Amino acid sequence: MTTPPAAGPPAPLFGAADIRRLAAEVDIRPTKTLGQNFVIDGNTIRRIVAAAHLGPAETVLEVGPGLGSLTLGLLDAAERVVAVEIDPVLAGKLPETIARWRPERAAALDVVLEDALRVTSLPHAPTSLVANLPYNVAVPVVLNLLERFPSLTHGLVMVQDEVADRLAAPPGSRTYGVPSVKAAWYSGMTKAGVIGMNVFWPAPKIASGLVRFTRREPPATTATREQVFAVIDAAFAQRRKTLRAALAGWAGSPVLAEQALRAAGVDPTARGEVLDITAFARIAEARVDAPGAAPTH
Ligand code: SAM
Repeated sequence: MTTPPAAGPPAPLFGAADIRRLAAEVDIRPTKTLGQNFVIDGNTIRRIVAAAHLGPAETVLEVGPGLGSLTLGLLDAAERVVAVEIDPVLAGKLPETIARWRPERAAALDVVLEDALRVTSLPHAPTSLVANLPYNVAVPVVLNLLERFPSLTHGLVMVQDEVADRLAAPPGSRTYGVPSVKAAWYSGMTKAGVIGMNVFWPAPKIASGLVRFTRREPPATTATREQVFAVIDAAFAQRRKTLRAALAGWAGSPVLAEQALRAAGVDPTARGEVLDITAFARIAEARVDAPGAAPTH
């Protein structure tokens, strides 16, 4: 077992010159398709790590370690880091970078060359997720990891600021939508700050936001997660419509939708954006429990 180093002077983190040099060493040009914006500011890394509330015995799952900016900070704070990276050049370079910058912590890092949307097993069960996520897949990555790895009890992710607002939005707010309700199935999410554009290379065109989450039990229901998520997708596919109309296709007809909504104690003229995750679970359950109900899958 490896242990984090004892308290002393702050360990060095990457600045802009380090990141450019590392990128040049492996001859990579950051790509938009993989959401490659690397953090070039040590204070931002310290802020993310502090906001993650990590305990010293934790195994952190980092998605998209890139050139290792955040990985260094995580290795200073936790017992282990498991880093999942899709880019083979970056995944190949990371162990060498860590061996150079944190030789005493090199054994505490596992690098997994995989797509975080598909990864099904990891070398160690992660207790927290801390990541500067590739922005185009941030929401599905978070939902997929919460589903696949029940050992994840909390985390902090950096995403597009607008997505951070959506993930943390409460029912009834303007930004409340599919990501907010699905995330609420697994966890409570709260916004933990905004990060400007100049701390990245290359600088993105939009601000980033931090979201902290803590896992909780999903609502008690006889419906499956898939059945509940099907109601959420149907309700928000036509978010301007009343639930009676929006759920007509899902239920089989507007009358059946109204029946399920009334059985769930939900006003059929309401819109999906006012319902919390427990109400969606009740609607799914009302359909599952309806006499003669057709299977939903
Ligand atoms: N953590 C680094 C930092 O903060 O400087 C890099 C963050 S960068 C925003 C996103 C990283 O995720 C890139 O290294 C990219 O190659 C990687 N990535 C993109 N899509 C991925 C996926 N589906 N699975 C795993 N990693 C992915």
